[in-house]
Amino acid sequence: MSDSFWLRNDPCPKCRENGGDRRGDNLGVFSDGHLYCWKCGFHKRGHGNNNLIPLAPGRAVGNFRLRLSEYFEKEPLDWLLKYGLSFSEITTFFRWDNEKKWLVFILQGMPIIARTFNPEDNRKYYMLQKQNVIVGLQQYPFLVFVEDMVSAIKVGRQFPTCPLFGVNITDMYPVERGLLWLDYNMSGHMMKIAKRSEAWRMKVTPIITELDPKEYSDEEIKQYVLGVK
Ligand SMILES: [Zn+2]
Repeated sequence: MSDSFWLRNDPCPKCRENGGDRRGDNLGVFSDGHLYCWKCGFHKRGHGNNNLIPLAPGRAVGNFRLRLSEYFEKEPLDWLLKYGLSFSEITTFFRWDNEKKWLVFILQGMPIIARTFNPEDNRKYYMLQKQNVIVGLQQYPFLVFVEDMVSAIKVGRQFPTCPLFGVNITDMYPVERGLLWLDYNMSGHMMKIAKRSEAWRMKVTPIITELDPKEYSDEEIKQYVLGVK
């Protein structure tokens, strides 16, 4: 699928078992999630889309009773396929609530946000989890922030990506370096955020594109991100 590239070095568990890797930097961590030890050859296969960095779990909001299933109706499935998500991505990140007609986005086992396909609902998205702070971001050389779940999955194929769902980036743990990628309609809002993040001494560079990241191909996404990174 996408090219895998080196993200950072971590301690190698195998080397450490044998008393080695004192500096804790033998294990290469790559963007597709695979691990490889430079020293002892220990490796672990990537599990594809693991570059999604969730906001720290907050508390559940809305008190919705969900009945989540892996069986999707045609409409939500078509909607996801339209953006080029694979079946494995769909079953990893989504469940379907057939009573509510909600497509529910799951991250690390938790329902985060629902997009409704019920014409009687008066809004499009329902937040299921209140999230505010990202922890442990210092380990990433840089992060891409996007607004929505499908964009996060697509950009996350190649780069560490964090879906914001409207959370203000300056409420988060300082990120050393980030790219904030929202569509053109949001750019006013985005500039404000970028400016405020300066005060926080975060280096957040905006990417302005005509469309949402999810509308672009892997190759286009790569060009956009590497273009400003
Ligand atoms: Zn090792």
